Order: sequence, then C-alpha cells, then structure tokens
Amino acid sequence: MPDKNDIILKGVAASPGIAIGRVFLLEDDDFFLVQRTVAHGEIGAELERLASAVEKTRDELKNIYGKINSVLGENYARITDVHLLILDDPDMKKNVAAMIKDGVNAEYAVFKVFDKIIKSFESIEDEYFRERRLDIQEVGKKIIANLLGKHKRTLTNIADDSIVVAHNLTPADTVAIRERFVKGFATDIGGKTSHTAIVAQGLEIPAVVGLKNISQQLSSGDLIIVDGNKGYIILNPSAETILKYKKAFDQQSRKTKALSKIKDLPAETSDSHKVTLFSNIDNADEIQSALNNGATGIGLYRTEFMYFNRSDMPTEEEHFENYVKVVKEMGDFPTVIRTIDLGGDKMSRLGILNVGTEANPFMGLRAIRLCLKYPEMFIAQLKGILRASAYGKIRLMYPMISGIEELRAANRILAKVMTELKSKKIKFDENIEIGAMIEIPSAAMITDVIAREVDFLSIGTNDLIQYSLAVDRVNENVAHLYDPLHPAVLRLIKLIIDEGHKAGIEVAMCGEMAGDPYYTPLLLGFGLDEFSASPAQIPKVKKVIRSVSFEDVKRISSEALKCGDRDSVAKIMGKVKLSYSERILNRCRI
Ligand code: PEP
Ligand code: MG
Repeated sequence: MPDKNDIILKGVAASPGIAIGRVFLLEDDDFFLVQRTVAHGEIGAELERLASAVEKTRDELKNIYGKINSVLGENYARITDVHLLILDDPDMKKNVAAMIKDGVNAEYAVFKVFDKIIKSFESIEDEYFRERRLDIQEVGKKIIANLLGKHKRTLTNIADDSIVVAHNLTPADTVAIRERFVKGFATDIGGKTSHTAIVAQGLEIPAVVGLKNISQQLSSGDLIIVDGNKGYIILNPSAETILKYKKAFDQQSRKTKALSKIKDLPAETSDSHKVTLFSNIDNADEIQSALNNGATGIGLYRTEFMYFNRSDMPTEEEHFENYVKVVKEMGDFPTVIRTIDLGGDKMSRLGILNVGTEANPFMGLRAIRLCLKYPEMFIAQLKGILRASAYGKIRLMYPMISGIEELRAANRILAKVMTELKSKKIKFDENIEIGAMIEIPSAAMITDVIAREVDFLSIGTNDLIQYSLAVDRVNENVAHLYDPLHPAVLRLIKLIIDEGHKAGIEVAMCGEMAGDPYYTPLLLGFGLDEFSASPAQIPKVKKVIRSVSFEDVKRISSEALKCGDRDSVAKIMGKVKLSYSERILNRCRI
C-alpha cells in the first residue's frame, strides 16, 4: 500500500490496525553530568538553585499523583508518597548542602549523594528493601532534571493524539498511558507476543515493535503511519499514501462493524461442532469490551498487572475486591483467574524480583516459581480468589507449571488456605475448578500426568513456542524464527489436546495463537475445546469457526501434522474451504 517513494521501516506487527499521527518520542532519561567548582561567592545562589529544584520536583510529584489518581485510582497514585518522603529526607538534604558548601555544583552533589545511598541499598539482603533503590534513583533524576532544566517526557504528559515512539515500553508503561491520547506505538525492541504487544492488543491500539532504532530516527512531531497489520512504519508519508491508508482504515472499521453482527451467534462450525470462545483480559476495565465482542467467559485474567506502577503489594482485600468486581460484571459467565505471572518481561517495581539482574529472566524466577518462593504473596492472592468465588463462577489457574511437583506444591498451599477459610467460616466455592497452563515443553510431554490432577488445561502458546523453539519472545533479532507453524509446536499442541481428552478434561488455549484467525481451522481440527483471545480478535475467530466444517478441518489438520516443515503446513492450510471474504480475513490477520 505505501508509495515507492515512501520511507518504510519494517518491524514486527504486534497489534493490528492503522494509525496516522504525530510522534511523541519517549526519550531516555540519562544525563551526562560534570563536576564544576562553585566559587565561594556563588555558594548561596547554588543552594537557592537546589532549593528551587527540590520545590519544582515536589510540584511535579504532586501533579503526577493527581494524574495517576484520576486515571488509575489512588492505589496506583500512592507510589508518589514514597517519592515525596525521599525528597524530604533530612540526611539527604544535609549531605547535598554540605557538598555544595565545599564548592561542588548542585547537580553533581545530588548525583553523588544519591549514588551513595543507592549503592548502600545494593547490599541489603531483603529483596523488597533492596529494590527501593529504584525509587531513590527516580527522585534523584527528577531533581537533577530540574537543576538542568531538562524534562523527561513521560507517558502521563501526553496531551494530544499521538503515536508513542520509544526504545522500549514496559507493560507497566503501557498500562499507565491515557488511552484516549495514544493512537499507536512503535518501539525499537520487542516481539509479537511480548507483553507490551499484548497490552496494546487489549487496548486495541495498533502497534509495531522490533524496529531496531526507530527511536533514534524520529523526532517528536514527525508525521508517521503505523501499519499494525503488516508491521510497517511509514515516515512522512505522501498525500496519496495517507489517502490510501485512510481508505484502508475506513474499510477496516466497516469490517469490524460487520463482524459485530455475529456477536450473539454461537461459536459453531457449519456441521454443528461447538467450541467455547472466551476473552483474555489484563485489567478489569477490559470486561465490557470482552462482553461487547461476544465472549462467553474470561479464559485468562492476567492478574499480575495489579502489581505494576505501585510501591506496595496488593493486599488480600484488594485481590478480593478486584475479583468480586470482575465476577459480578461477568454474571453467569465463568472467569479463569490466573495466579500472578510476574517475571520475564513483566517486572514489577515492588522489589520482589532481582529486577534487571537475572541473566535470563524468562527462564528465571517467574510465575509459579516466584509464588512458591514467596508463599505469603501467593497466599494473599489465593485467599482473595477463594473468597471472591462465593460471588460468581471462578476457575483458578497456575502459570508456568514445569512438572507435577510444582502443581502439587501449589495445591498444598491452596489446601491449607481452604482449611483456614473453613475454620473461620468464610464462604468460598469448595469445588472450585483448578487448572494448569501448559506452556513449558516439559509439562507438555507429561500432560497425561498433569491432566490427572487438574480440572482443565490451558495451552500458553506464547511461552510454549519460545521455550520449544528457543526463541526469546521479546527479541526482535529472532522474531522471524518465532513460528507457531513449526511442526514441533503443532505436534506438542496436538499431544496436549489428546492427552487432556484422554483424561476426560477440556483443553483451552489462551496464547496469542488462539486469537489469530489464520490458525483457527488448524486448532479446531486438532480438537481444541476453548479459544481465549484478546477482545477484538473474538469476532474474527468466530467468523472463521462459523465458516468451516469440522470434518473438513479435522482432515486438513491431520494432514498438516504429518508435515516436516512449516511451508508444507501453510500449503495444506490453504486447502481449508473458506469463502473469498473469509479467506481475506483469515489471510490478512486483521
Ligand atoms: C502464554 O504464554 O501463551 C500466555 C497466555 O501467558 P503470557 O502471555 O501471560 O505469558
Ligand atoms: Mg505464558
């Protein structure tokens, strides 16, 4: 669609859709500092300069509190209380003033004093306290920025419709944006199933990631097009290209509108094979969108997002209130609450992880491993989930199970929590269904063993693909190797489904593969019982389900399983009988 004269940057299509707008460049906040000698006669002025920078920082923090409070609520905003306490620390102020009186320039004095405090935190054994150094660093940077007159543009500063361009956006950054002002994203790093991409899909914001150095090529105010369908960024597009994309945008809006007509129809093939179509959510605010798109349940609630952008742990009460709100909104529809999956690319600033120090965070202390290491944190969540189960249909699911021992260890903790609640006469669903995510090849290989001890399974293809192909899901350099059609991946998926069925339980899929209509016929043919996808993908998947015959896709899927290479699989998938418009939908991956 772009013109041959347009400058196109190619990246990874992370969230579908088209956005045209001006760049908001999120810059790095590192400063280059030099030590200057302050003449004796200027020391008073230097101290005043420091005092004024501290006051400016205070105003900024109060401002940030107000903004976060109005968008995300008080719990998230409270992080700034800690920052204000650091700003007012008398020892810190005394030490900076002493250095200035010795003739050191204010910014360098702030840097030195903060650096000393940060280093002293590094040797603290308790991880929670050790990680508080990040808050200290943040405040120090803010004071220095005010002394230098430099201001880091943060996501909360976005004032107009913009396309955010950054080296990286963390999932925590992504949830903090004000949805109405951000039309699209483009980042240097990341892959299709990075959590930043997944959050963008949840917010229905077009995104392209893995663009290598786009943040160095663009400036704020540049006009760009984000083509989240193809994974292109077009710089300073010509008038004709803008027109073409505007037309494509309108066409896409019409298609989405047309798809909304099937919202209340069953997810059933032309020969009456029914499957379940659920939604993935990261946040309770996405429920309405899930319901509006026709989800009949939540197949994955990624609860770890509750831990972001705050300085304290969610309490049992907070978990409880959050889940009660979700299940009440879901009415008779079930909700699968996944226990926290922090770690990997979902780092919280709570200090429960060695943020940034694990060499391989995706293979590190993540998800169930973290919960088993810190049972108190796990117990608070389990209690919240169990108590909420008295108010609606909840299923509980553990992420990243790698072997039966982990499942049993998690269940032992759960049993203890149940005994405690019973002894206190607190109501909960005593028959709550327990499920395990199968997203690690070792778990896939022993699905038969795991399936005997759970009520349901859910395939996490985002991780299953990364671990079985040894392809980091957020690394743009290997994004081309991240392939759901790899025969090994397909055989693992089929194995999990078959072993789940042999044990008499249902098998769901909540990885991104379940939400891509291109793979729908294949997965249907494998016998998948439940597809759980981000809200906007649900109608597209349903459309394909309703257009195919189960007999046809079963035959094609079993042929595909025999292939030794991905291209042969793709060729066989092309044989699925779809009408022209469904084929376009299926191919374009809109
Ligand atoms: C997955 O791995 O497929 C999954 C759904 O979990 P997450 O993306 O949160 O790791
Ligand atoms: Mg996963």
